[in-house]
Amino acid sequence: MKVAIIGAGMAGLACADVLQAEGHSAALFDKGRGAGGRMSSRRMITPLGDVTIDHGAQYFTARDPVFSELVAGWRDQGVAAPWPDVGSDTWVGVPAMNAVIKAMAAPHDVTWGCQVTGIARNEGQWTLLKAGGEVGPFDAVIMAIPAEQAAALLSLHDFAMARIALTARSQPCWTGMYVFDQALVSPSPVVRNAGMIAWAARNSAKPGRAVPEAWVVQASADWSQSHYDTAPGEIADLLLAALAGAIGTAVPAPVAATAHRWAYALSAGTGDGALWNPGIGLGVCGDWLLGPRVECAWLSGRAMAAALLDSAREASKLAALTPRLSPSAA
Ligand SMILES: Cc1cc2nc3c(=O)[nH]c(=O)nc-3n(C[C@H](O)[C@H](O)[C@H](O)COP(=O)(O)OP(=O)(O)OC[C@H]3O[C@@H](n4cnc5c(N)ncnc54)[C@H](O)[C@@H]3O)c2cc1C
Repeated sequence: MKVAIIGAGMAGLACADVLQAEGHSAALFDKGRGAGGRMSSRRMITPLGDVTIDHGAQYFTARDPVFSELVAGWRDQGVAAPWPDVGSDTWVGVPAMNAVIKAMAAPHDVTWGCQVTGIARNEGQWTLLKAGGEVGPFDAVIMAIPAEQAAALLSLHDFAMARIALTARSQPCWTGMYVFDQALVSPSPVVRNAGMIAWAARNSAKPGRAVPEAWVVQASADWSQSHYDTAPGEIADLLLAALAGAIGTAVPAPVAATAHRWAYALSAGTGDGALWNPGIGLGVCGDWLLGPRVECAWLSGRAMAAALLDSAREASKLAALTPRLSPSAA
C-alpha cells in the first residue's frame, strides 16, 4: 500500500516504522521546518553563543517493553540518555529532545515545511492538498496530528472520527526559556507544581547539554488559558518572576529570554488508541487518543499501523477467496 502520513512527530513516525517494516510505502508530510513536533528544541541566539533548549516535552518514560527496547537502542546510538534527576525510568533526547525524532525520521521519506490543508478522495485514491498544489495518489491517509487540527481535516470524510477529535480538547501551555551568564541558586534542577508553574527545569543540567545556564519554565494549563492572548514578552517576565518565587531567591537578569505558546500542548486521552475507517482508508493517531505522553504517542502510532495492516490482510484474504470470472464465463 502507498500510505500518506500527515504529521512526522512521535506517533506518525512510529506508524511509519511498522508500515515500512511490513513492506508498505509511507510518505510523511510535516508543517514544521525541522524534526521535533511537541518534542522540539528551540535554538536561541545569545551573547554567550547559540543555546538549544527543550521547550516541549521535557523527558519521556519507557514502560512498555517494546518501547523500552527501542529506547535502549537510542541510548546505544547516542541520541537518548537517562535523566535520573527526575525518576528511575525517565529519558531525554541527546544533545536535545528533538534528536530522537531526527533519528526516527532519518530512514523515512519526510517532506518538512509542508502543511496539509485538506484531503480529497477520488476513485478510491487520496490526494493531499497543500500550499501550491497537491500530492498523491495514496491508498490510505493517516493523520498523526493534534486533535483540533485533525478534526478540521477529518470532518468532510468521517464525521464520527471528527466528532471524537472535537471532544478531545487539548490544553495550552505557555513556556518561558531563559539563558543566564551565571548559575541560579536553586535547591533542585527541577520545580514541579509551584503556583502557576507546572514545571521548571535547569535545561543545562540534562545529560549531554553544555553550559551556559539555561532554564525552561512551563505554566499550568489554567494559567496558560487565562493568559492565552498575553504578549510573549510579558509572559517571559511573569514566568521568570514566578521561577524566582518558586526557588526562593532573586534571579539575575537573563542574557536572553523568550516565551512560546503551545496552543495544543496536552490532551487527557480518549482511550481509543487509534481510529481507522477501512472502508475509505482513513485513520488517525496521536497522543490524544491515549494520554499526554511521548510513550502514548508511540503506542498510538503502532496501534494505527496494526489496524491498517489487519484490514489490508483481510482485504487480500477476501480477494483470494473471490472466484475470478474468466472471459469465457463472463
Ligand atoms: C509543553 C509540553 C510539555 C510536555 N511535556 C511532556 C513530558 O514531560 N513528558 C512526556 O512524555 N510528554 C510531554 N509532552 C507531550 C508530548 O510532547 C506529546 O505527547 C508527543 O510529543 C505527541 O506526539 P504526536 O506525534 O502525537 O504529536 P506531535 O508531536 O504534535 O506531532 C504532530 C506533528 O504534526 C505536524 N502537523 C500538525 N498539523 C499539520 C498539518 N496540517 N500538516 C502537516 N503537518 C502537521 C506538526 O508540525 C507536528 O510535527 C509535552 C508536550 C508539551 C507541548
